[in-house]
Amino acid sequence: MCGIIGYVGTQPALPRLLTGLSRLEYRGYDSAGIAVADDSGICAHKRQGRLSALEKDVKQRTFTQKTGIGHTRWATHGAPDDINAHPHMSFDGRFAVVHNGIIENYAALKAELQQEGVTFRSDTDTEVVAHLLAKHYKGDFRRAVAETVARLNGAYALGILCRDFPHELFAVRRASPLVVGVSADGGYIASDVTALLPFTRRVMLPEEGDMVRVTADGIAVWEESGKLVNRPFEEVTWSAATAEKGDYPHYMLKEMWEQPAALAATLAPHLENDGIRLPELAGFPACGWVGLRRICMVACGSAYHAAMVGKYVVEKWARLPVEVDLASEFRYREQPLDERTLTVVISQSGETADTLAALRKAKRCGSPVLAIVNVTGSTIARESDRVLYTQAGPEVAVATTKGYTTQVAMLFLLGGFLARQRGELTAEAERRLTKDLRELPALTQETLTVATVGAAKWLSQARDVYFIGRGIGYAVALEGALKLKEISYIHAEGYAAGELKHGTISLVEEGTPVVVLGCGEVAPEKTLSNLREVTARGARVLAVTTADLCEIYGEAAEVLTVPTVSPQLSAIPVAVVLQLLAYYTALERGCDIDKPRNLAKSVTVE
Ligand code: GLU
Repeated sequence: MCGIIGYVGTQPALPRLLTGLSRLEYRGYDSAGIAVADDSGICAHKRQGRLSALEKDVKQRTFTQKTGIGHTRWATHGAPDDINAHPHMSFDGRFAVVHNGIIENYAALKAELQQEGVTFRSDTDTEVVAHLLAKHYKGDFRRAVAETVARLNGAYALGILCRDFPHELFAVRRASPLVVGVSADGGYIASDVTALLPFTRRVMLPEEGDMVRVTADGIAVWEESGKLVNRPFEEVTWSAATAEKGDYPHYMLKEMWEQPAALAATLAPHLENDGIRLPELAGFPACGWVGLRRICMVACGSAYHAAMVGKYVVEKWARLPVEVDLASEFRYREQPLDERTLTVVISQSGETADTLAALRKAKRCGSPVLAIVNVTGSTIARESDRVLYTQAGPEVAVATTKGYTTQVAMLFLLGGFLARQRGELTAEAERRLTKDLRELPALTQETLTVATVGAAKWLSQARDVYFIGRGIGYAVALEGALKLKEISYIHAEGYAAGELKHGTISLVEEGTPVVVLGCGEVAPEKTLSNLREVTARGARVLAVTTADLCEIYGEAAEVLTVPTVSPQLSAIPVAVVLQLLAYYTALERGCDIDKPRNLAKSVTVE
């Protein structure tokens, strides 16, 4: 969601800013802008729409400035037009600001500034930051930044230029993501590591409230109290190529095909001989695994659907009650939480604002917090008591694929581990589970060749599509429907198979596609009855099922079969088929698959 890039160094800034912004496009945005500075002042350009529009504008001129900031905006305050696009300039033209997040007290600050005679040009919350900088400036750039951020409430990552100091930039972060990079040719700031990979792999993650000064000679960091501090730099292992499309037409297709490797990388380090090992959890939680009373799994979007799969396996294998909550709901409910309730927060980026807020609430209530995230050093990873990292590598397509399946795989590991710790899993059952988990990557590889294009052709004509399943199949149905909605813009709903007749079946008409999932089967004969109920009302049924159940669902108009696998684990291959279906349906409809409208990749606002 929104992207920030900044550079100060020995080389022209503009090409670096544009490359960085193109790497951030996947996060979702609706306008883009840059500002560059040198001894003659600050020069800013911004444009509504795609980055290519801005690029076309700026490429008509030569920019030699070696300091600059850039932004892709995902509008929260004010329409996505040229004026509201970032950077925003202060009333005296001295400061240029890019911002990710929301300034929650902007209305009061705006009123104050207006009373003092400042005229606002945009409808954004961000513009107050630019004017406050000018108001507080008395010749000291750093001080103006410190005094300005002291006035701000809410979430922000800021990149700031000052006309009087054209060879430096300042950045600040609070509750919004920001990384800092260094290379031989200068220093960088960005919203995430993928934007920096073309330039450097040497990065530092500022702490909450940190203020960073970037110059060609290096980085200086002040913590919130104003003290100069030393933050460690580390080498990231992701290479630039892993975040590139290569020969694939879309990132989403590439990332779907990366799933076998991502699953292997996530699972293999935790599978030893005949058992599951999670050394990350040693000595955790304080009450011990047997002392736990329940688990709350908290997430948003696809991660929430992964958590639903997690609920089935943890309850079944470890006999421990699991509640699954949407982070945006969890944080405002007054549910009992204590040291014997484990909170598991799940987020691909590790920056999801609602999930972060839920994590903080759980900690406040004394609940031990375990995070499942993909991005090392992300805010959620840092603030949780323990972290299990999925090994999906960088995920660029907005619609998650390998991010989701690796989360599910990690929940399988957690479920097996908990079951063993709580004495609910025999050594023999653990051996079998370990063997099945080892086979998952190869099985996923096989699944990727299931022929979905034909079914996608008829789905692409539909107005509404219903996905139904039972047990784990229900959790996967929700994810399948979300995937289709996200990228093909077809209305889709996921339902518990037995629930459809309690209302939604009234929407089934002649030819309405219903996707029936034969997966993780509890009571397949009941799901078969549900298939017949919709068929009797004219639905055209597509069954997606493991091979062992394909006879049961043979009466569907079309059947897609994935290899047989133990019931719970079938969530992954069946989900992969639904990803392919969504992809080819969106392709058939000519949609912008990697960057669906209105969506952002990591949702860093609440
Ligand atoms: N709240 C700011 C705006 O609407 C920044 C949004 C963003 O993070 O892109 O302009």
